Parts: sequence; structure tokens; C-alpha cells
Amino acid sequence: MRRIILLLCIAIAITAHAADQPPKKVVKINDSIYMVPTTGNVYLVTTPAGNVVIDTAIRDQAAEARKLLLAENHGPVKYIILTHGHADHIGGIPLWKEDGTQIIAQRNYYEFVNYVTRLEGFFAPRNAAAFGRPPGEVGPWAGNFGAKIDPTILFDQHYEFTLGGVEFQLFSTPGETPDHLTVWLPAYKIAFMGDNYAGIGIPEPMSFPNLYAIRGTKPRWALDWIGSIDKVLSLKPDMVLSGHGEPIVGNQEITRRLTRYRNAIQYVHDETVKGMNAGKDVYTLMQEIKLPASYDLSQVFGKVSWSIRGIYDGYAGWFDTNPSTMYEQPPSSVYPDLVKLVGGPEPVVRLALEKLEAGKPVETLHLTDVVLTSDPNNHAALEARLKALNYLQDHCENYVESGWLDYGIRTAKEKLTSK
Ligand SMILES: [Zn+2]
Repeated sequence: MRRIILLLCIAIAITAHAADQPPKKVVKINDSIYMVPTTGNVYLVTTPAGNVVIDTAIRDQAAEARKLLLAENHGPVKYIILTHGHADHIGGIPLWKEDGTQIIAQRNYYEFVNYVTRLEGFFAPRNAAAFGRPPGEVGPWAGNFGAKIDPTILFDQHYEFTLGGVEFQLFSTPGETPDHLTVWLPAYKIAFMGDNYAGIGIPEPMSFPNLYAIRGTKPRWALDWIGSIDKVLSLKPDMVLSGHGEPIVGNQEITRRLTRYRNAIQYVHDETVKGMNAGKDVYTLMQEIKLPASYDLSQVFGKVSWSIRGIYDGYAGWFDTNPSTMYEQPPSSVYPDLVKLVGGPEPVVRLALEKLEAGKPVETLHLTDVVLTSDPNNHAALEARLKALNYLQDHCENYVESGWLDYGIRTAKEKLTSK
């Protein structure tokens, strides 16, 4: 069953790249609000004085989403609101923008999209590896502040406007990104909360979030995220509309789900902080802290152990107090000497396979690293590595982890066949 859920989540995750997706449909939320579920849900809020678009989808699905929404109502687009600066929410801005359209984001959007653009050459191959797609073209470095900034209105804590008699209240709610905002429509008691609940459309039981995304992110501050969910809860919404997945309907259900989610984040954060104060190292805490089953959250999207490390490193940075890690030479600098010391790669590979037999595939990976550091194409080490990666893949319940295991498997196979 878990494997089925995982595959479902993988399918959701790669919708941006699948050609055989079922045709998109408009979901009517109420007489004034429409949604197109795509990679990044797109919402159209209609008013007698013009329309408001909330999020615009990933670029290659934006035109289709727009066409479907315009068939419902083709009034002028007065505002585009961006819940955050991730690519699956901002890809359709140029399609929706008309003369005089105001584009609104939280002020941290400016730094967030500049940060993504600043490190495009770093992120592009990692994203490609994680999602199993060929790396895209990366142009010359755009500089530190070279991103295209579309918003015409950037606010700090709170911004509101009224259009056609409908009041829109926007709140800064940092979480999955520092620029996250929540749109609150008091008339409908609807909150649009971007990706702060369900970074990807996961069915119940919801997954623990990625407090750190291993493709590479700045810290996602747990206490900010908790505060942002508390803000949404304080509005007492009757409906929550997310950046991915289905609406959550009914205040009781919203309260149940969001409270469970924020409490789980709080638990993992607080246990990590207590462990840090007790002098424990990050690996010990990754092994020790388990999310109690009572939270009823899967880990198909976010992983608790990665989040613990994200919190730890977010607070403390890279130094682990071991003087040997202060210097430029990594532990792997002595791996070739160790291989020589034991008379060559064979005994190391043998031990790697014994570890796999004993159900310790991660130790197999570490031991193959020892051999492959000095002999990157060592056939026996690559074979052992492939076995360990396949073992981990067969037991994997997290789609992000699964993507990276696939990347490892592809890389090992390429090396094996390139000889
Ligand atoms: Zn998203």
C-alpha cells in the first residue's frame, strides 16, 4: 500500500514532465472562484470589477490552465497574487499580465528569486538529478541580483485591497519559502495558503513537510512555519485552498489537519533543540528522534531525519566541533591509503557485500565510496553499490529519496557500461 502511495506521489511530482496526463479540468470552488489543478494550482477569483489570479502554475502548463479559466470568465485581470516564488507558481505571469495588472508578492520574494537565479548553475543539475530529467540549459551567470522581478507591489507583514466589493487580505506567512503569503477572503472565509500545507498534493494521511529540501535550500525556519499555520488557524477558515492538491473543507477538518501538522513540526523542532542543548551530535539526533505515531503523518514527501539535520545545521552551521573537520582535507583524502593498507580494493568490497547481507546497505555505500575515491570505475565496487542502491530503493517510502536513489543507480550503471 505504501509503495502505491509512493508511486502516486511520484506521479504527481513529475506531472510537469509527463506527456500523457489526463486533460485538465476547471474545478468550481463557488460562484466566484475557480481552480485548475496542475503542477501548481491556479485560482481565479472573479468580481464585478475584474478578476484576481492567485498563482500561475509551472511555465509549460500555464497556457492550458489559463485557457480553461478564461472559458469560465474572461474579465480583466486586475491583480496577480503570488503565494511564493517557486517556479511552479510563477511560470504563467507573462500570460496573465495585462496593461495595468498589479502583481503582488511578499517582500522576501525579491531576495528569494534572486537567490534561485544567483545559484542557477548549482541548482539546475541537482533538480535534474532529483527529478530524473536531462539538465536544462543554464545561461551565463546573471549576477547576484539578476532575476526578473515581476511584482509591482511588495509588502512586509500585511496588505489589503478591495475589488468589486470583495475584500482581499494578504499576510506574510513564511514557511516552505521565506516569501510565502496567505490570501484571506473574509467574505467567503477562504484561505489560500500556498505550499505551507502539503508542498505537493499528498492525499491523507498528509506527509511531514520538508523542513529542509535535499536538492538544496536555505533553512526553512520551523518556528516561522508554525507561526504561519497558527495565523491561518486564527482566521477560522471554512475552506483552505493550497498550491497543490484538493481543497480542505470545513473548519473542524481544517483545524484537525493543520493542528496535527504544526504540532508535528513543533515536536521535531523542540526535540532537536533539546538534543542540541544536551550536547548531542546531528547523527545521533537523526537516529533518536522519531515522530510519534499519534501524529499520523507519512514521510512520503518530507523526511523527519532530514528535517532534524536541517534544523540542526540551520541553527549551528557546518562545524561539528571535531578539529579534524576544520581543514580543507575531507575524510576521503585518506581513503586511497586505507585501500592500500588492506592490500587493495577486494577486501573492502567483500566487507561491503557482507554489510549488505547483514541489512546495512548504507554502510555498503560508505565502503564503496572508500574504493571508488581512488578507483572510480572499479567494477566490483560499482556492482556492490548498485545492489545496495537497489535494496534501498525497494525499501524506500519517500519520493524525494527515491529520486536520488534512481540518480545513484543511473550513475553507477553508466560507469559500469562505460568501461
Ligand atoms: Zn509548489
